[in-house]
Amino acid sequence: MLYRQRSLDTPTGTLETPVLFPVSNIGKRSSDNTPEYADSIPDIRTAMVNARAIRQRDPQWDRIQDGASLRDEMGVPSDTIVFADSGGFDFESGDVDTTPKQSLATQRAIGADIFGTVDVPLSPENRTAENKDRVERSTEYALEASDHHDGDALLFASVHGYTTETVANTLQYLEDNGEFDGYALGSMVPIRTDYEKVTRLILSARRATDKHLHVYGLGGIVYQPLLLYLGVDSFDSTAFIRSAGNRNYLLPGFGGIELHRIDELNHLPCSCPVCATREFDEIRKDRDLLTQHNLWALATELRRFRFMAASETDIEDYLDLRFQGNGVTERAYGIAKQQVRRLK
Ligand SMILES: [Zn+2]
Repeated sequence: MLYRQRSLDTPTGTLETPVLFPVSNIGKRSSDNTPEYADSIPDIRTAMVNARAIRQRDPQWDRIQDGASLRDEMGVPSDTIVFADSGGFDFESGDVDTTPKQSLATQRAIGADIFGTVDVPLSPENRTAENKDRVERSTEYALEASDHHDGDALLFASVHGYTTETVANTLQYLEDNGEFDGYALGSMVPIRTDYEKVTRLILSARRATDKHLHVYGLGGIVYQPLLLYLGVDSFDSTAFIRSAGNRNYLLPGFGGIELHRIDELNHLPCSCPVCATREFDEIRKDRDLLTQHNLWALATELRRFRFMAASETDIEDYLDLRFQGNGVTERAYGIAKQQVRRLK
C-alpha cells in the first residue's frame, strides 16, 4: 500500500493531503454551475479552476484585474486553497494560445495557491510521433515556467506520458532541470477505462518522485480509492457535476445510480445534509441539490478511506470489500494490488 498523508504549505494555508479539488467551472460559459459547497463540507476547502477560461471571460477578468477577489467571485471562503491549471485540456487539438509566462501571470493575478504548468494533452488517437512531440512541448513549457516562477505559490509541473518510461524519464528530467513543488499527471481521462494502463502510469510517476503527486481528472467515486491506494496526494473531479447533469446519484461504496430507474421511494439512502432533510422527489428534480449530494458522496468516500487508515484497518481488506461485486472495478483494484505488491 502506498497511501500516504502529508501537509503542504500554501500561501492561503496548510493543505492536509490526500485531498480532492472539486472543479469549479468559473469562467466557463456553461449551464452546469458549481453549487456552493465550501460552507457545508468543512474538509473540502479546495477548488480547481481553469486559468485560461477565467482570463478569457472579459467582464470577470476585468473585475479581477481591478482588484476583485477570485474567491469572492466564486462565492467560496477566503481561506479556500485554489489550484489553477493552465486549461491545457482545451488544447487537445494541439494549438496553444498562451505562453508559460502569460499563464503564470494569470495564475498570480487570481491569487491561486498552486500553479499547474501549460501543457498539451496527448492525442487520444495515440499517434506515437505526435505524442512524443506533445510530451516534449509540455516539458519545455514546464521548464520555462520554472524559470519565470517566483513568489510563494507552489508550482506543479504538468506531466504526460504514453508509456511508464516516458512518465519516469520526463519526471526525472524535470527534477534535474527545473524547480517544482510537485507534479501533476495528465492525459488520463481518455484512457480511464483502461485501468491497467492508468495504474501503471500512476505508479511509474509515484516511484519517480517523493514530491506531491496530483492526478488530473480522475477523482470520481470509483477511481478515488484506487488513487489513494496508489499514493496519489491530490486529485480533481468534475464527476459530481457531470453525474448530476445525467441524473446520476453517486453512492459511496458503489458508484453512480440512475435515478430514473427508481420509482417509489420517499428518502434516499444517504445522510448528507441534502438527503437527510428532503424527500426523493425534490432531489430528483433539482440538479443543484443532486450536484451538492454528489460532492458529499465524493467527500464521504475520501473520509471513509481516511477513517479506515486511521483506525488501522487493513486497507487491502477494506478495498477487497469496497470493490467486491463490481467486475470492472474489482479487476482494476486486483491489477493495482498486484503491481503495488511487486514493488516490495
Ligand atoms: Zn446525500
